[in-house]
Amino acid sequence: MNIAIDGPAGAGKSTIARLAAKELNFVYVDTGAMYRAIALYLLDNKTDIDDEEALKAALEQIHINIVYESGVQHVFLDLQDVSTEIRSEKVGNMASKSSALKPVREKLLDLQRDIAAKNDVIMDGRDIGTNILPNAEVKVYLTASVDVRAKRRYDELVLRGESPDLESIKEGIEQRDYQDMNRDIAPLKQADDAVLIDSSDMTIAEVVDKIVSLAKSAQ
Ligand code: C5P
Repeated sequence: MNIAIDGPAGAGKSTIARLAAKELNFVYVDTGAMYRAIALYLLDNKTDIDDEEALKAALEQIHINIVYESGVQHVFLDLQDVSTEIRSEKVGNMASKSSALKPVREKLLDLQRDIAAKNDVIMDGRDIGTNILPNAEVKVYLTASVDVRAKRRYDELVLRGESPDLESIKEGIEQRDYQDMNRDIAPLKQADDAVLIDSSDMTIAEVVDKIVSLAKSAQ
């Protein structure tokens, strides 16, 4: 069985998908992490992503491996586990830019479909229900207001001991929403057959319950 969860940055997709996967005993697949791993490589190697040849050459050098350890996804660039390094804002912003490019999306399409074909998955991303897994048994479009998403991100950073600026987090989220929703290839949008969940006024547990019950009724 395949469950697709799409939605904008900061809607809580990964937290919720991880918990729902645990409850259902499914594999949680974080596709954003794959785009982030590519972005990390492009940043580290100072690849000019507007130069088609340079991008193509870089993508040929990138070998992404996805490994699951006790249900937790680890992303490797060659032999290096980059799961922590890819979480920075800088890498997220680069991922949002580079994920708009066709060769980058093509590189990840088969990898994502292959994992879904071999496992019961909850896969989260931007184009899972619309493009990667159009036949997923359950599709969810998970969103929340920009203010709520910015405040959640802000609280997360404060907990980590950082001193973030709420207004610039909000601007960053708005910019990523715009880029993800307005690109030519596989833009973020709700699939026609996806269930819309607005988590602005919901607890994490409520959203997880809702997804688990959608999965159970589809089984
Ligand atoms: O979800 P996350 O913030 O980790 O994703 C990073 C970026 O990767 C997103 O802003 C989006 O541009 C891109 N992405 C995508 N398609 C996916 C998952 C992520 O374009 N399926």
